[in-house]
Amino acid sequence: MVIVMKLDATEKDIAKVEEKLAEHGFRAHLIRGVERIVIGAVGEKKREVVIDSLEMLPQVEKVVPIMSPYKLVSHTVKREKTLIDLGDGVVVGGKEIVVMAGPCAVENEENLCEVAEKVATAGAKVLRGGAFKPRTSPYSFQGLEEKGLEMMARARERTGLKIVTEIINAQDVPLVSAYADILQVGARNMQNFTLLKELGKQNRPVLLKRGLSATIEEWLMAAEYILSEGNYNVILCERGIRTFEQYTRNTLDVSAIPLVNIYSHLPVIADPSHSSGERRLVPALSRAAVAAGADGLLVEVHPYPEKALCDGPQSLTPQDFSLLMADLRKVALACGRTLTTADESAEGV
Ligand code: PEP
Ligand code: MN
Repeated sequence: MVIVMKLDATEKDIAKVEEKLAEHGFRAHLIRGVERIVIGAVGEKKREVVIDSLEMLPQVEKVVPIMSPYKLVSHTVKREKTLIDLGDGVVVGGKEIVVMAGPCAVENEENLCEVAEKVATAGAKVLRGGAFKPRTSPYSFQGLEEKGLEMMARARERTGLKIVTEIINAQDVPLVSAYADILQVGARNMQNFTLLKELGKQNRPVLLKRGLSATIEEWLMAAEYILSEGNYNVILCERGIRTFEQYTRNTLDVSAIPLVNIYSHLPVIADPSHSSGERRLVPALSRAAVAAGADGLLVEVHPYPEKALCDGPQSLTPQDFSLLMADLRKVALACGRTLTTADESAEGV
């Protein structure tokens, strides 16, 4: 349930509500919106046990039940979009479309820095690159692990880009969060609840990919695990789902983007690379995702895709990426959003 406080509620009034909730075994999540202060209350007990006594407290305007199984991620709790502030003016969920780009896996420092510089020049704000790779085959390249994280951190220093990288198990949270600006949970781990809970206990933003066969509700419930532990910095990522179609690696579920925007306050981005598995489809899917209301994109870019150790066929060259960004800017502007590109910075606009 959501406890909506009156506009002039004081800290003391809020504390009284929180006390009452704790007494009845509910956990309180204070959400300060622009228009109102609400307290999201979650717990196993039925809300009827506490609802009357809450409504009698001073400065409680009303108590609203949340009908969906996900509570803290729902729009009922928070009307305004959640903004994920990565620092240095990079905000996911605001007017600006935030593009995250880079190789599937960190392979070596030279290639990583080359691609990082190029995607930064083209207007990307975040560098992607996996150091822990959850591969379908145990015989495929598994990633450079901590060495890869160090390379990502050095690429950040050189370019000013923020970094997003995948985490595949709960024990690695301290290690990966020591390097990354955003911790990525891959599709295969969307329901790794131990990992999700651990990520909820720290504050670094989490990029939560949709599972290969997950419904939108299962995906939002996975996000709920993170928020329920106290970390509200979650970005959702639609990365394509399994369907019967064989011409693509996965099927980009474009409708998931407006649906998430209807049901949740969390920002949502799209991954056109894993959705398609094919370089030539990436520009069209990127444009479609931005037009559908995505707050950003996660795009695989490799300086030499034909030599990539992982996902070469779906990786753009830096040059293709630059063209895509110029194209995307037009779509962004048509949708009332902004996107900074190489051209734009060159013109000093
Ligand atoms: C990735 O982005 O590197 C990745 C492995 O993607 P997914 O989890 O969506 O398959
Ligand atoms: Mn990949």
